[in-house]
Amino acid sequence: MTPPTHPEDHRPAERAEAATSARSADGASPNSVIAPARRLVVKVGSSLVTDEGRGIDHAAVARWAEQIAGLHELGKDVVLVSSGAIAEGMKRLGWPRRPSEIPELQAAAAVGQMGLAQAYESAFTARGRHCAQILLTHADLANRRRYLNARSALLTLMGLRVVPVINENDTVVTDEIKVGDNDTLGALVTNLVEADALIILTDQQGLFSADPRKDPQAHLIREARADDPALVAMAGGAGSAIGKGGMLTKVLAARRAAQSGAHTIIASGREPDVLLRLAAGDAIGSCLRAGSGKLAARKQWMADHLKVLGRVTVDAGAARRLREGGASLLPVGVTEVGGEFERGDVIAVLDPDGVEIARGLSNYAAAEARLIRRAPTSQIEAILGFIEQPELIHRDNMVLRQAPA
Ligand code: GLU
Repeated sequence: MTPPTHPEDHRPAERAEAATSARSADGASPNSVIAPARRLVVKVGSSLVTDEGRGIDHAAVARWAEQIAGLHELGKDVVLVSSGAIAEGMKRLGWPRRPSEIPELQAAAAVGQMGLAQAYESAFTARGRHCAQILLTHADLANRRRYLNARSALLTLMGLRVVPVINENDTVVTDEIKVGDNDTLGALVTNLVEADALIILTDQQGLFSADPRKDPQAHLIREARADDPALVAMAGGAGSAIGKGGMLTKVLAARRAAQSGAHTIIASGREPDVLLRLAAGDAIGSCLRAGSGKLAARKQWMADHLKVLGRVTVDAGAARRLREGGASLLPVGVTEVGGEFERGDVIAVLDPDGVEIARGLSNYAAAEARLIRRAPTSQIEAILGFIEQPELIHRDNMVLRQAPA
């Protein structure tokens, strides 16, 4: 694995010079996030690969393939997360409006994904590159074995210099089990392959301090820490008509990517040669930097669980000890057990107000946990007839959630 680099620490001087030749039109100083990155995840939204209800924009797909081939030549591995299946399916089926029924959305995605795969296949082949289609579901990432499988398939493809083209497998997922938007999927993939950076391309210039359509004072955020809580307020919540993710999902995706040490760029996909210019060191869009902390791979996987099978509520004392860090969760601190889970499943831990404070691997199944909640360690064996471990969740198998925004 390539460890994520922290580019500002050792950025070569030549890169800074090279960057000046490709400086962005607004003359901003080059940022150093993409130039030194070895492995990138690039997410392109529906509005960048399809043409306002007219289906796939083949010229645009050709431009993405061209730029990604260029990144390859610079020695970078690239994973592409591309939306557009539903939009293309709507066009192929002659539907003017996005359907609201799930089976129809699934049908549109199935039809459209064929067109998307075809478009990327021809565009990459024309540039002497292979690409590979990978359709992921939340379950592929929520089960540890499938997660590791998906990871090794992606790493193998990258080792073969193939460009994986990823979308959510919309045809087999329902709302309850959906990742839901490709910004989040892009972040999950960034964590999965331990990419150095995530580039989210959209139809806006980046993240603004306020909604630029409503506030004339709004300015582009050039650089911020991905975990800065102020970003969530700035991102508002609006989405576009055709794709799924608004600016808020992009900010949350950046925060998620930062957990594995990856920086995120949110930039306009309409900027000419945006990927190559970012790689040359140009400052385009918003750069949301990861802090220094990086979760260990297993904890990362637990943190990335979008949905959990069960949850336990703990009393105020246990909640405090967990929040302070370093404590395991003992059955005695548990007041309620919800959901059905097995030993080894990831469950959420809620404080008495229902706020999630941690998630982790349960040592006991839900039925057992119900029996031993509130019980001191000395009584577990008498209640169950056996004792797996004294803890319900051991601290090594637990990851604390960030403070809610
Ligand atoms: N997976 C959906 C599609 O390909 C798009 C989801 C999104 O735009 O975030 O049409």
